[in-house]
Order: sequence, then structure tokens, then C-alpha cells
Amino acid sequence: MSRTLLEWARRRRQEGPPDGESLVAQLAGRPSPAQARRHSGFPLPAIEGVQSFYDLLHGTPADAAPRRCAGTACRFAEGFAAHERGPDVHCVGRCYQAPARLERGVFPIPRTALVAQPVVFRHLFGKRPPLAELYATPDGDRILDLVEAAALRGRGGAAFPTAAKWRSARAAPGDRKVVIANGDEGDPGSFVDRLLLEEDPHAVLAGMQACARAVGATDAIVYVRGEYPHAADVVRAAIAEAGRAGVLAPGLTFAVHEGAGSYVCGEETALIAAIEGLRAEPRPKPPYPTEHGLFGRPTVVQNVETLANVPELLRTGARSTTKAFSVSGAVAAPGAVEAELGIPLRRLIDDGAGGMRAGSEFGMALVGGPMGRVLFPHQLDQALSYTDLPGLGHGGVVVLDRRVSPCALAEHLFAFARHESCGTCTPCRVGTGLLDGIRTRAAMERLLSTLETGSLCGFGQGVPRPVRDLLAHAGDAVLAADGRDAGGGA
Ligand code: SF4
Repeated sequence: MSRTLLEWARRRRQEGPPDGESLVAQLAGRPSPAQARRHSGFPLPAIEGVQSFYDLLHGTPADAAPRRCAGTACRFAEGFAAHERGPDVHCVGRCYQAPARLERGVFPIPRTALVAQPVVFRHLFGKRPPLAELYATPDGDRILDLVEAAALRGRGGAAFPTAAKWRSARAAPGDRKVVIANGDEGDPGSFVDRLLLEEDPHAVLAGMQACARAVGATDAIVYVRGEYPHAADVVRAAIAEAGRAGVLAPGLTFAVHEGAGSYVCGEETALIAAIEGLRAEPRPKPPYPTEHGLFGRPTVVQNVETLANVPELLRTGARSTTKAFSVSGAVAAPGAVEAELGIPLRRLIDDGAGGMRAGSEFGMALVGGPMGRVLFPHQLDQALSYTDLPGLGHGGVVVLDRRVSPCALAEHLFAFARHESCGTCTPCRVGTGLLDGIRTRAAMERLLSTLETGSLCGFGQGVPRPVRDLLAHAGDAVLAADGRDAGGGA
């Protein structure tokens, strides 16, 4: 019998996965806490802790009406009536249709490629090879060598060398290892992972199978954010189809875990906690998940786009040089664009998204989401790569019309940070709540520095990045309270 919740959580991690549905899946059916306790065996405080943590588990069934998207493209789009109120959701991955709501349905994503031979979008523009060919892998050593030779880096934002991560998991002791596809594409302005999960799920699953072979994994889990219900359905169907086709590796089990609304789940240790049925609170590293991950097992957490690259890189032996960007906002043709890493922002907008929308003029671009960068007109030739632009993140680019004030963007970023901070560490929990009230540059610098150096995870550490850009290029006016509402017309 555990005496504290912490002891209970620790024991739960050691016991391994429970039979049946995860607690998050059970709570999505909105049972009373007492019913959830009977079904899950969790202590009541743990159930309430989980329920209060995830946005999509809050409230009554009446609140399940379509939520308004409060992501960046939707925030600055015209279309929501001023009187519309109700629970918001932070990005539903339909920035190209802004303003959007959280709805179950099929919402095809426009896509284009600015490269002669797409890699990420290869199957979206050409014929997908037979499943047997797609899922076939060389032996583990060869996979690692090819992924290393391809210089593939994580596309979720950290740009960590993929082969190094896989080698670490392979070297870790343990007879059960796990591969998780991180489909928690939470950056407002990003929708590439949704496109891949919905329209090329077999490339993602085949990439997971290659990873599993390389590291010796027995379990493969696709984590799909709760705001992407159709993607989860498609991936389940693809797993079943691959199973029927007999192309899944013997001894490797695939499963889907649906999230329930929390930005910080994109952080790998938080995502693991979410799958364990707990509050998605990041933990200090080391130990890294490759050594001690899901239920203590060595675990590779890899972004969806990264995994979708793998089958084609294994087939060709080529280097990885392209990236899929999501472009939205005040452009003529928003959508997903595969381009060479290093493409200038101007070319991405002009050639990939049809240029600026009629009647709009470039004012700013939020690149890489709320922990990313803000680029101004004099930076339109900025190269977009992980080395040229730290903070490129997942490659979401929301273009804002010049009528959107830097103050309004700052307010939007502050509100996002305040809402999505998970509250685990003090600098971020308290600091994100203070951002909006700071009126002097010196005080703001002190707060940003505290967030950067004192926060536990990349969320709190990354919050200052776009704020520093706004201060550097728009000046102290960003700190003025009276400009905060001047923000329409993306
Ligand atoms: S930095 Fe923020 S999001 Fe990350 S653990 Fe701390 S409170 Fe949570």
C-alpha cells in the first residue's frame, strides 16, 4: 500500500502497463471520478490530478461542443464573432483554414514540394511502393549505418542526430525496449505531422519498424495528439492493414495512444508520463529515455516527420537535406511545403505559399511556434535551417500582416506560455504568469534570464526566444499594455 501519491506513481512505473485502456482514454469518456477509480484502480487524487491536467478532459459533456482554436493563425485571422466564448483549444492543425474549430472530420491539407525529388512527401506525390517493400528493412547494423550516413536529425525541434539516439537505446540493457512516434504536434502553426499520419501512415509505421529493428524494440506506440482524432483512426486502420498484409515484424507490437490536450506532451519525458497514465510532467534528464523510458524500459521517442523520412533514406542511401514546413497566415496559398533546409523565408512564402494574400503586406512571421523566432521584413532572406536559425522548431511558419502589432503578438505568446506551463518547476510556473505584467526592459531581461536558466524543460527555456526577437526589433513598445489588443487582420 503506497502512503503517498509519489510512492504510488513510482510503483506504478515499475509495475508496467496495466491491462485495458489507459486512464486518459477512460477519462475521455467523462466518467465520474468514482467510476474512473473503479475502472482504473487509481487513487482518487491521481484521477483528479490527471483530469485537471489535460485540457480535453476538463468540464462537462456540454463543453464537448466544438472548441474554438486559439492557435496563432486562428488568433489573428478574421472570422470568429466577438461574442463567441467557450473553452479554447491551442491549435487543431488546420491553420490553413483559419479560423478553425476542434471537430472530428477529414480536412485535407494542401501540399507542395519545392524539391525535384521529395523525400518526406514522396508518397504524397508519387506511387507508394507495395507494403512488403516499404516495411522490409536491412539488418540493425546496416540501418544504423545508413541513418548515420544520411545525417538525419530529429525534425521535432531539437535536431538531435537520429542514429546517435538509436545507438544509445540499442546499447542500453533490457529485454523490452520501446519505440514511440511523437505525434504530439503542439506548436501552433504546424500541421505536417497530421498530414503524414493521415495520408502516409505506412511511411511512419515502416520508419518505426526500422527503428525497432535497429534498437531491438518489442513495442511500438504511435502517440497522436487528442486534437487529431482522424489521424488516430487512420493510423489504427493502417496498423490493421499492415498486420493483414503480414508485413509487421514478428515480436513487434504496434499500438496507438491518443493524447488529451497538453502542449508539454511534446517533451519526451512528459509524453512518456502521459502514456503511463500520469500527469504529463517532464522530469530531469539524465537518465535519458533511451536508457530509462516508458515504464523504465529503454525508449526511443522520435518525431513523426523524422520517422517518415527513414524508409526512403534506407532505400536510396541518400543524405537527408529537406524539411517539411507548414505555412499559414496572411499568404495566398497556405499549406505544407517540402523544401531544402536553408531555404530563405522569402522564397518559402513566394514559391511555396503563393506569396502574400491580396491586400496583405508582410509584417512579421512566427517561425517554429511559441518557443520559436519572430522574423521581421528586413529578415525575409533569413535561411531556414537548424544551424542558421536556432528555434526553427517543427518548421511552422505563421505569416502576419503588418496590421498585427508586435504588442498583440507578445500578448498572444504570453497567454500561450501561461496556459501551457505544466507547473512542475517554479521558474516557469511563476515566470510565465508574470510576463504580461512586466513594463520595463530591465525587469523583462531578468525574468527571461530566469526562465532560460532555471526552467526544467525546453518549454520554459524556450519561452524567452520569440520575446527577445520582439524586443530586439520592435523595441520597448512591446512592453506597453495599451498596444496589447491591436491585433486583427492576419
Ligand atoms: S519548464 Fe514549464 S513546462 Fe517545463 S517542467 Fe517546468 S513548468 Fe513544466
